[in-house]
Amino acid sequence: MDKDTKPTIIYIMGYGRSGSTLLDIILGNNPKIESLGEVAFYYNKYMDQDNLCSCSKSLSNCQFWSQVNMKHAIYVFPLKPWDLYSFICKVENILSLPLLIFNLLPFRTVEGYRKHMQGFFRAVMETSGRKVLIDSSKSTRTKIGRPVAMKKICGFDIKIIHLVRDGRGIMFSRLKGKNQLLEKGMNDDKWAGPYFATISWLITNLTSLLVEFLYFRGKTLRVNYEDIVSNYKQEIQRISRFIGVNLDNVIETIEQNMELKVGHNVGGNRIRLEKKVTLKKDFEWQDKLPYHYQIFFLIFIWPLSKLFRFCNSNSINADKKNTL
Ligand SMILES: [Zn+2]
Repeated sequence: MDKDTKPTIIYIMGYGRSGSTLLDIILGNNPKIESLGEVAFYYNKYMDQDNLCSCSKSLSNCQFWSQVNMKHAIYVFPLKPWDLYSFICKVENILSLPLLIFNLLPFRTVEGYRKHMQGFFRAVMETSGRKVLIDSSKSTRTKIGRPVAMKKICGFDIKIIHLVRDGRGIMFSRLKGKNQLLEKGMNDDKWAGPYFATISWLITNLTSLLVEFLYFRGKTLRVNYEDIVSNYKQEIQRISRFIGVNLDNVIETIEQNMELKVGHNVGGNRIRLEKKVTLKKDFEWQDKLPYHYQIFFLIFIWPLSKLFRFCNSNSINADKKNTL
């Protein structure tokens, strides 16, 4: 892949419910950046008419994604969406991570993944007219290897934002129900959900640290959700220096309390379907999270959770200016 057809991908790594959709939308308000959302699930969601793009159309009727499909089919013909989704599942899941690290994945799988992913992201670049793309597919067990595979197999330029939110905020968010069910007007109020979510949050963030250590030292910026909503100017400036794109226009939009535009975002939090997105602080858990959940967090999780604040991006030189 030559320089002109190779995207720069800002990959938002970490656990769900950490504000990744909001951060994705914030960054996508710069004219050089395209916000894509949880794009790893695109071909899975494409088949289901109930899954909407953030422009409110189903993915198969969205103009942006229809254009992407047409261009993708030029590079990969015949285009079979399930083929790409199948390669993604085989390469990016947690069980394949050791095979990916030690180059033990089958040749056919690796070549299929490379061909499809290069074609897909080239089609996204051409459709959007932008070279910097935000992928907030995060680090669930099915996607933990995604940034590694995109770097090793596809040769993309990857910069990682490891987004971390206070685990008690995660617990409270999980208490409301699963995002996918809430989006369809359903709810699941299982009392144990927050416990499992917090353990999963810890494992996901520790695995993310491992991925950073092995492949993205010097190319990772750790960002806390609480800092983004409390001190957005400083945090966006820090991200701006890290990704090498001037984000002053985004800061101005928020300062003037103007709405953030939402592009053609796939998957993620329900805010992507709102017509008007503004930056709001969400610390509701401090008043409303039941005590038994807070005690569980403080005893079992809090000592390890401090790790994510302590190792706050020492590995990157955030002051280095490298504006695109
Ligand atoms: Zn759309």
